[in-house]
Amino acid sequence: MTDHVSEMRRRRTFAIISHPDAGKTTLTEKLLLFGGAIQMAGSVKSRKAARHATSDWMALEKERGISVTSSVMQFPYADRIVNLLDTPGHADFSEDTYRVLTAVDSALMVIDCAKGVEERTIKLMEVCRLRDTPIMTFINKLDREGRSPIDLLDEVESVLGIRCAPVTWPIGMGSRLKGVYHLLLDEVHIFEPGRNFTRQDSTIFQGLDAPGLAERIGAEAYRELRDELDLVLGASHPFDAAAYLAAQQTPVFFGSAVNNFGVQLLLDFFVEHAPQPQPRATTTREVLPEEARLGGFVFKIQANMDPQHRDRVAFMRICSGTFTGGMKAFHTRSGKEMKLANALTFMASDREIVEQAFAGDVIGIHNHGTISIGDTFTEGEPLAFTGIPNFAPELFRRARLKDPLKAKQLQKGLAQLSEEGATQFFRPLMSNDLILGAVGVLQFDVVAYRLRDEYGVEAGFEAVGVVTARWVHCADAKKLEEFRERNAMNLALDAAGELVYLAPSRVNLQLTQERWPDVRFAATRDHI
Ligand code: GDP
Repeated sequence: MTDHVSEMRRRRTFAIISHPDAGKTTLTEKLLLFGGAIQMAGSVKSRKAARHATSDWMALEKERGISVTSSVMQFPYADRIVNLLDTPGHADFSEDTYRVLTAVDSALMVIDCAKGVEERTIKLMEVCRLRDTPIMTFINKLDREGRSPIDLLDEVESVLGIRCAPVTWPIGMGSRLKGVYHLLLDEVHIFEPGRNFTRQDSTIFQGLDAPGLAERIGAEAYRELRDELDLVLGASHPFDAAAYLAAQQTPVFFGSAVNNFGVQLLLDFFVEHAPQPQPRATTTREVLPEEARLGGFVFKIQANMDPQHRDRVAFMRICSGTFTGGMKAFHTRSGKEMKLANALTFMASDREIVEQAFAGDVIGIHNHGTISIGDTFTEGEPLAFTGIPNFAPELFRRARLKDPLKAKQLQKGLAQLSEEGATQFFRPLMSNDLILGAVGVLQFDVVAYRLRDEYGVEAGFEAVGVVTARWVHCADAKKLEEFRERNAMNLALDAAGELVYLAPSRVNLQLTQERWPDVRFAATRDHI
């Protein structure tokens, strides 16, 4: 029998955060290369059947030059099992990204050496900080002329407010790039463009005094390196594992993803130092990853890429215990047992027989709408994992049908897309309108595209007089009923049937709140 605790300890589950174009996709590819596998989530079982749909779906991504689907990639490396959770890059999909970040134990931040810390990096870093997620940093595109390394570290420290501990240090940059020096291993790794580096076939000099090093990189570069290292070692923080795990310090690596240079040094360090699966908070107690019984939460829902199969895949992060194929688990929100049949695992090798997953892993569960984002599964204990964020919509549109006979289809499509977190969907009490809420304007385009592609519905979206939404709660049932009667014009139900106040203006919202002091107006629908 497999020991779930030692399996758990091998897991390293992380996500890459970066501003678009910094090189996240390229770096992901290289990491997978070292793991010896590339496998995308959601397309494991029905890759052939789904090819058509997949390429259609990809067409939208291509058109936009963005990646809208997230995936899970699992690969073995150096006796570890690495789970890389991909995050969509575009700002309009930040909801998805934020939720993915609740499902990881650490993150890898990629920075373009010419651009430094960019706006999206700052935002993602803020999210990581909410849970004190440990972060490693990869400064990319060293084969191009960029800013001085010291400058870049300064910027990370001052703008992101985290101390930097350089682990590798660049020797030159752009056309003068000679290699990197590993401060902890005391090794110089030579950059030899055109070679697809692995640790074995790159040239390594042991120590700065190694014979031949100065000749190899040139006397001037060698002198510069020594001067710079004197400065850096004096001024920067040495790597401190505890400070890294407490999210107070970020180990920094330099390299070039596209040249696969400096990547393996990063990966070696990552699997050694990145945290194993961590304890998770729930409504009642902390769940430890060592626990024998299964516990996990759903952080993402994705439509099956095959339009012939209307089911969806719920991505569950396992927090404790062992998942076994076909097992029954307790769905704590509904209080019902559910058979986790046909669950997808994202293991690179032997995927036919992988029927087990452990804390740190992600599995994909097929379902027809019974599972929502934020749901918890256990082996019977009625707890719920907390901290999976829901977002207040900031933009609102009314859905308009081209063919009025497709109203049912439209409603069904919107309800499902809403459950996935692709949009939020409201039905006013007093009209037949269907109102959509989103955080970014691009979400509406994606919804329109998917309605057409997956539900055969042509819909447009038009302006509507709503500026903000509030989920309404009131302990006093009579008061709530009175509130409901008086404000029916501005009330709606969300996809889950919860009561929501759709405010035509900020002033209106403020007045209504003053008038009804016993009613609580929440900016988001809490995932418990
Ligand atoms: P993402 O948007 O963060 O996923 O970035 P991509 O991985 O798609 O990379 C954006 C662009 O930068 C692409 O054209 C890559 O080929 C390029 N790129 C990635 N890594 C490097 C690198 O190390 N050096 C150079 N010169 N270009 C790179």
